[in-house]
Amino acid sequence: MDLHLKHKVVLVSGGARGIGRAVVDGLLEESAVPVILDKNYVQDAQLKSYQVDLTSAEACREVITQISNEFGIIDGIVNNAGFNDSIGLEKGTPEEFIQSLTNNIGHYYYLVHYALPWLKKSKGSIVNIGSKTSVTGQGNTSGYVAAKGGILALTREWAVELLPYSIRVNAVIPAEVATPLYEAWINNFADPKQKLQEITRNIPLEHRLTKPEEIAATVLFLLSDRSSHTTGQWIFVDGGYTHLDRSIR
Ligand code: NAP
Repeated sequence: MDLHLKHKVVLVSGGARGIGRAVVDGLLEESAVPVILDKNYVQDAQLKSYQVDLTSAEACREVITQISNEFGIIDGIVNNAGFNDSIGLEKGTPEEFIQSLTNNIGHYYYLVHYALPWLKKSKGSIVNIGSKTSVTGQGNTSGYVAAKGGILALTREWAVELLPYSIRVNAVIPAEVATPLYEAWINNFADPKQKLQEITRNIPLEHRLTKPEEIAATVLFLLSDRSSHTTGQWIFVDGGYTHLDRSIR
């Protein structure tokens, strides 16, 4: 199916690695113009890459100005950068909690806020990447989970606020995806291999991690006009992990 994404300029935060990179690769396959916003610069002639510290609202404003000057349009934003930083209730501080919100949700607002004039012109699409931890809890990660819960709330809130401009806003919610971030997290356990087996045993569909390109495929659909009457939705791409019967093994 042609997703009609040819020449569409789509910003992808955290696009250098993992899920973001899979989205970028998918956009390239559709002949779109992915623009990576990440603290890591990606050296690749096919790609536009901006090295940016997304925790700074001013840096986000500047990069949006640069991009709009260069391209004259913004057709979509994939808010994806974030990390599970283990700032817990007991093992955490108020300062670390606020910093975690800045790391994980602040820039979702900054980027959309500054890009809004161009999104209004293009009737753009926004896709926010969440996490199943915001609906299940995980323990010892208050900041990340608060941010991810806020991202789902913002998805609904922005879907309503942006109705007059025909800008659609949706969320994709991963659970366990094989990315560099995931690998780093699993390696914190005493026996990472055993922990991985425990997790995949409980993933109903095929007892395996989700592949980044499986998240990307849903993101691309939501960016495209093939989902032209879909807004305010939270779509779980997780092999049934969050919702299917717990007795399924
Ligand atoms: P990843 O492999 O770590 O890739 C994320 C990229 O974003 C990295 O290049 C990272 O740089 C960059 N980044 C993070 N914070 C940034 C900031 N403040 N400024 C600029 N760049 C920043 O992560 P991923 O696993 O693909 O995760 C992507 C999204 O999916 C995240 O929002 C995550 O919470 C969500 N998610 C992932 C999973 C999973 O199982 N992987 C599950 C649920 C939700 P560095 O690597 O240098 O930090």
